[in-house]
Amino acid sequence: MKIAVLALQGAFIEHEQMLQRLGVETFEVRQLKDWQQLKDGLILPGGESTVQMRLLKELGLLEPIRQAIIEGLPVFGTCAGMILLSGGRLDTMHIQVRRNAYGRQLGSFHTSGSVTGVGVEVPMTFIRAPYIESIVGDDCQAIATIDGHIVAAQQGNQLATAFHPELDDDLRIHQHFIKIIKTVSKVL
Ligand code: GLN
Repeated sequence: MKIAVLALQGAFIEHEQMLQRLGVETFEVRQLKDWQQLKDGLILPGGESTVQMRLLKELGLLEPIRQAIIEGLPVFGTCAGMILLSGGRLDTMHIQVRRNAYGRQLGSFHTSGSVTGVGVEVPMTFIRAPYIESIVGDDCQAIATIDGHIVAAQQGNQLATAFHPELDDDLRIHQHFIKIIKTVSKVL
């Protein structure tokens, strides 16, 4: 199994380290030529979604990535990566997000909660995080809620978290993504 990690900006190295710990091969996508490599999944890291969107457009990566996801490539977006998957951006996930939803005072915080299909007491680190304001399709499910706000969702091959599992020492969310890849792509 080989997972592509979008490495234009933000916290991509931490995802690579999580995947290495799970024995999964990764490669970084920095330009269109990297994208041509064979891959079983894609991670869209946290960072700054406006910068990431601009770079994706400039590098000609936006449409190829969008197409691949629509055709079923498993994708996991964290924080800014979740924003990229939402309506008005890559637009592949049927979610509407509110950016910087926790305001300035509570910009960053840590908690834990249960995630459907993953387990209980999953650590959740939020950094100027968005949350999901609404889910706009029957094919998309909320899988985690904190204080009444949806903070993780899954839609078939697509997984999104408003928090950063790559910054905590718990591999379960990444394992869950690998499970999605195995189910969707029948990769061993
Ligand atoms: N606030 C950032 C944005 O709106 C997301 C923050 C993050 O990825 N940690 O793009």
